[in-house]
Amino acid sequence: MHYAEVLVDVANRRLDQVFHYQIPEGMDLKRGMRVLVPLQYRQVQGVAVRFTNELPQGVSDRAIKPIIGIVGTLEIIPEDLIDLALWLAETTICSIAQSLHTVWPLLKGKVEEWVIPVAAKEDEDVKTLQILDPESYHALAVLFRSRNKALSLSIYLKRSGLTKNQVEQLAKQGWIRLESRFTSGVPQSVRKALSSGMSDEGVEVNTADIQRFSSDYRRVLTSEQSNVSQKIMGALAKQQYETILLHGITGSGKTEVYQRIIGEVLAQGGSAILLVPEISLTSQIASYFREHFGDQLIVLHSGLQVSEKAKAWQDILQGKIRIVIGARSAVFAPLPNLRMIILDEEHEGAYHQEENPKYHARNVARKRMEQLRGVVVLGSATPSLEAYAAAQAGKISLLSMENRVANRPLPPVEVVDMREELIKGNRSMFSLSLQNKLKGTLERGEQGMLFLNRRGYSTFVACRECGYVVRCSDCDIALTYHTQGNSMRCHYCNHEEIPPRTCPECGSRYIRFFGQGTQRVEEEIKGLYPAARILRLDFDTTRSKEGYGEILGRFRRQEADILVGTQMMAKGLDFPNVTLVGVIAADQMLNMPDFRARERTFQLLTQVAGRAGRSDKPGQVVIQTYAPEDRAIIKASHHNFKGFFWEEIAYRKARNYPPYTHVIRVTLTHEKEDRVIKGAHSLARALNQGIGSHENGNTSLDILGPAPAVIPRLKNHYRWQVSLKGKNIVFLREFMHQGVQRFAHDSSSSGVQLNIEVDPLSM
Ligand code: ADP
Ligand code: ZN
Ligand code: ZN
Repeated sequence: MHYAEVLVDVANRRLDQVFHYQIPEGMDLKRGMRVLVPLQYRQVQGVAVRFTNELPQGVSDRAIKPIIGIVGTLEIIPEDLIDLALWLAETTICSIAQSLHTVWPLLKGKVEEWVIPVAAKEDEDVKTLQILDPESYHALAVLFRSRNKALSLSIYLKRSGLTKNQVEQLAKQGWIRLESRFTSGVPQSVRKALSSGMSDEGVEVNTADIQRFSSDYRRVLTSEQSNVSQKIMGALAKQQYETILLHGITGSGKTEVYQRIIGEVLAQGGSAILLVPEISLTSQIASYFREHFGDQLIVLHSGLQVSEKAKAWQDILQGKIRIVIGARSAVFAPLPNLRMIILDEEHEGAYHQEENPKYHARNVARKRMEQLRGVVVLGSATPSLEAYAAAQAGKISLLSMENRVANRPLPPVEVVDMREELIKGNRSMFSLSLQNKLKGTLERGEQGMLFLNRRGYSTFVACRECGYVVRCSDCDIALTYHTQGNSMRCHYCNHEEIPPRTCPECGSRYIRFFGQGTQRVEEEIKGLYPAARILRLDFDTTRSKEGYGEILGRFRRQEADILVGTQMMAKGLDFPNVTLVGVIAADQMLNMPDFRARERTFQLLTQVAGRAGRSDKPGQVVIQTYAPEDRAIIKASHHNFKGFFWEEIAYRKARNYPPYTHVIRVTLTHEKEDRVIKGAHSLARALNQGIGSHENGNTSLDILGPAPAVIPRLKNHYRWQVSLKGKNIVFLREFMHQGVQRFAHDSSSSGVQLNIEVDPLSM
């Protein structure tokens, strides 16, 4: 191996390129080490990410400079995490720097430029300079006067009075040298730990702890719990990579299974990561786990201070911490001897990161366990179609738990047809049945939860009399209503229509756009039951100082009778006194402009229904809808995941949507609408040009758009999108790459921001 690929200046993200350097004879360089390298007329630091024998085309060996030295005092990034970062950059189409920062957040530090004189004050040429070019000499003399004969660039600019250009001139002339110096954001103590924790001997295991944990189980497992735990432990014993989908209905006791299998991992001297979709939901799980695992467990969350984070990293690397609980980014936790990663509620969209690198924690978990030959457990009552299809295809294993703990029944679900309410003369947003049930619940002193969809920005047009929804004839996606211009649009293909005045199905004139908020629900309950105590849980109330935990705490203490909220309260909550759950309008989610809308609806309804009747008091569920015949609603009301899966997967296949195909979407943004539209068309053209050149290949793809994004304007920027759809993801990536390159040469691309997403979760 002659060359090292060095990622230069990673900390300030200015340069994000990998350059080749020679590895000098005798240098004991390892991947992940920080090195000092020459770059133009500077010396900069970087991270050696890869070794290679080959140079890029057109680069001659003579142009390659040697590495100056290893910067010894800083951390070395473990090799598997470097590989993970390279994989992440490639598969999500982002820079290696962005990936590396995500995988190894400790890189966050500061790079400062320093100015150093090349010659000494007494040198002949310096004396000549003093005579021939007194100005430059004075600039140089500032450095000679400084204590260490070196100044940071910012101070140097002030003291010398030069501009940055002039300083660079001096450097080009060879009088001074510019050097980037990296100040790590990591405290010294942690850096020491980083180098010592990475020894080959691994981590010492405290055997006393193991005994404590394996004899500490009080609960008797149900036969299903014990069966799946045994199977997962069996997989663990094989020391081979495996992904297991644990499909367990709501209330089947998945948390207990997680706890047992993590106990087993610890007993074998390993460590584990438990991912949860939202950190605000962890307090229940975390306190339960802490009872068993004590301070070997840490909860990583975004509220941690930088120093706390660094300390956590240190404890993790040293093996003091062996269980990490956290949201998606915890998937990168550098635990030594990592044997297992669990994703609870694996179907949740929160596992997908919307910024670069736009990864899905499920994919990262699988990659990591593949690298380290461990086990991934995906747990859910409503698995994603992707995961369940993979299990059906035999790509991952499937375990299921089909009964609730203590044989508690699943609650009966009543589907209310809102079209009939209209006939009955009831124009309230509550059906008569829901009103009755609410009344009974309040009278019995029990609690109820009412759900609405949060995403109020997306409105669709529906007939209140027959339930007809206007959809795109090409994409089968609900058209989105825009008040501006009174038009409806498909956000996939940009098809546009004027809303009909009468329903094309039944001729009713009661056809209009749809959208309700939690506030209106609250007001309407107050009108119906003035004595009811109501709490609201939505984006607005949780942002206030009270916050999510506070509101839920009050509801748990029964300080309120009814909790009104968005789907954020559907996840994993366990309230014994909740016996009634109502879904105000299942249609809101069902008609999202997204091919996953039906899947999301099924998941939401199932999860929501799972909140009722979790203790001895029986629960009941009411789903209100204008589409009672929709398969998502029927199957959810029968608690029938498998039935839903087979119908929906057939639809995806027929319509050629994921998981049968891959999508790469580019969102273009610009402050000016005409610029972004022009850019989007030019990108689509650039992509289309690629089709000709690939004609003879056996790979096919579709170019969708350009079309306005579902959120057409955000933070003062207009947004348009162009998507690629096709079966071969490697080919799609390459095709997109080339298209974007061509687009970059077009004048319409200047100033337009591109945001590329591989297999985005939302449309
Ligand atoms: P899930 O996550 O599958 O919806 P949970 O893990 O929340 O289910 O478990 C549901 C309820 O059953 C919880 O209150 C939990 O404490 C209880 N539970 C789980 N396992 C057992 C068991 N083996 N014996 C008694 N209660 C259990
Ligand atoms: Zn109609
Ligand atoms: Zn369309």
